[in-house]
Amino acid sequence: MSDLLDLPTPTTDSTGFDASAFDLALHAQRQRSAAGDYRTSTEALEQLLLTCPATELHRRAVALTLLAQHYPRIGRLTASARCATTALGLAEKLGHDGLIADALTAQSFVFAQLMMAREALEAGMRALAAARRAGDPVRESWAMNRVGVAYASLENPEQACATTEQALEIAARAGATDALFACHNNLAHFWLERIHDATALRQSEVMAEAIPRARQTAERAYALARQSGSAHRVTVALSNLVNALLAGGQLDEALPLINEFGDLAHNHGYPTLALEADLQRAVYLRLQGEPLQATRMLSALLEADTDPPPRLRRLLVRSLYETHKAGGEFAEALRWLEELLRLDLQMRRDSLLLQTEVILIREQVEQAQARADSAAADAQRERARALHLEHEQLRLREHAMALDRAAHEDVLTGLHNRRHAEYALPLLVEGARMAGEVISVAALDVDHFKRINDSHGHAVGDAVLQQLAQLLRHRLRSADLLARIGGEEFMAVLVGIAPPQAAEICERLRLAVAEHDWAAVHRGLSVSISVGIAGGAPPQQADALLQRADQALYAAKRCGRNRVQVD
Ligand code: GH3
Ligand code: MG
Ligand code: MG
Repeated sequence: MSDLLDLPTPTTDSTGFDASAFDLALHAQRQRSAAGDYRTSTEALEQLLLTCPATELHRRAVALTLLAQHYPRIGRLTASARCATTALGLAEKLGHDGLIADALTAQSFVFAQLMMAREALEAGMRALAAARRAGDPVRESWAMNRVGVAYASLENPEQACATTEQALEIAARAGATDALFACHNNLAHFWLERIHDATALRQSEVMAEAIPRARQTAERAYALARQSGSAHRVTVALSNLVNALLAGGQLDEALPLINEFGDLAHNHGYPTLALEADLQRAVYLRLQGEPLQATRMLSALLEADTDPPPRLRRLLVRSLYETHKAGGEFAEALRWLEELLRLDLQMRRDSLLLQTEVILIREQVEQAQARADSAAADAQRERARALHLEHEQLRLREHAMALDRAAHEDVLTGLHNRRHAEYALPLLVEGARMAGEVISVAALDVDHFKRINDSHGHAVGDAVLQQLAQLLRHRLRSADLLARIGGEEFMAVLVGIAPPQAAEICERLRLAVAEHDWAAVHRGLSVSISVGIAGGAPPQQADALLQRADQALYAAKRCGRNRVQVD
């Protein structure tokens, strides 16, 4: 009987989950259960839920709520409580008032079945509030309907009737035919309860009101059931209608309906309802003044193989007691009265056990949810931390790269600086040596730069250096190293180029500088450079090349400047 661990959990992940196929299948099961085939549709729903990944919160909440509505029909109350409680957790996580109302409505119903009347009422009230927040009158009518059921389980059929009348009005206004039928059907049942209570308490005034009301509402439910075309609903409605007629002593009207009720229940395979029809036939016989036949029939029903559910067993026993009493067999009547007491005690005990189990289930579900929530929060924090570290690392790398660039860059011109040239020149020479290539180094120096500063100012001097750097850079290949190695001194390293060709290149550079529109920088400004070149086969010592290029540069200066001199 334990349903503690039987909640379907998903085995598949979200890849390969076909959401629209799932929705269609869910809809099909809803239709099937509306036709009263709860056992098959429950199994199908359990299977369906297994295919639904844990990440599908909304779909899982819907399917679990549907299952929670199914289980009580096949006597699995604690499984229903577990599904409803889990669905409620998901719905709350989603903050979806409609789903919250549905889950609470299902929870309220199963709590009422478990005789947890107070919890049922509380869940029903919360369902009602959620349905109102959602602005959904259909859900509101269902929630109100369950509040009525909760009042009935609090043994307050008067309040149950009043609440259900309200639910009925809401359902009628919303045009919710399913809820409307459920309300009429429940109402008929509650009026029957009131008849029963009033009989026991000998309240003739209540009886006078309750008997016609029971019949009236039962007839209305029956008519609605016929309109709906659902055999299950018609059968359920007939049960109440027959009871109402029997309670009112309208035996001739009751008999054909008992037959119809029994036939429908047998033909459609509703065993519990079929048993109820047989029970009603026995009551009919008793009221017809045939107690002997009635007791025979009731005893046969009790001894049959089919084990009736506790509620029906209790009705059978009560009926046996009443029938024996009516037939004047008081000793037998007493025996069944004692059996009735025993059954009541047993049912109370079973109910208490189930209640404990359900409390345990609620705790388990809440704990599991809390664990899942905190795990999700941990994962989120971990992700945030990892992201932060990644950003930090990126920032540091960029900073290091910037520092590295700064260390090798000349701030004024954006060319490489002396430090870089000292680092790169030996590598280039060594590389050329290994590749068997020639190499040339050019030392370039601005002529009379001091004069430029002196006559036009230091800022103009700076602008000259910047423009000169651009001019040289654009005229050299990107593979050629160009660096500013002193105030107005530059160095170019041309790999794969022999000195004569380097001289041609540098001659073009010299001309470009001399012909540049320096007047645009400052009126009356003209600039020239002198170049010294050294090169050929790469030497062992890179420094030697630069020294020779420098010497060539001095020579160029000595020979009048604005010229290229090869070492
Ligand atoms: P020469 O033709 O013989 O090379 O004569 P020069 O005047 O160019 O040579 P000298 O070495 O006498 O003077 C170089 C001047 O360059 C001195 C210094 O003030 C100036 N200078 C060095 N660095 C900078 C700089 O960054 N900006 C400016 N505006 N001037 C600089
Ligand atoms: Mg100079
Ligand atoms: Mg100089």
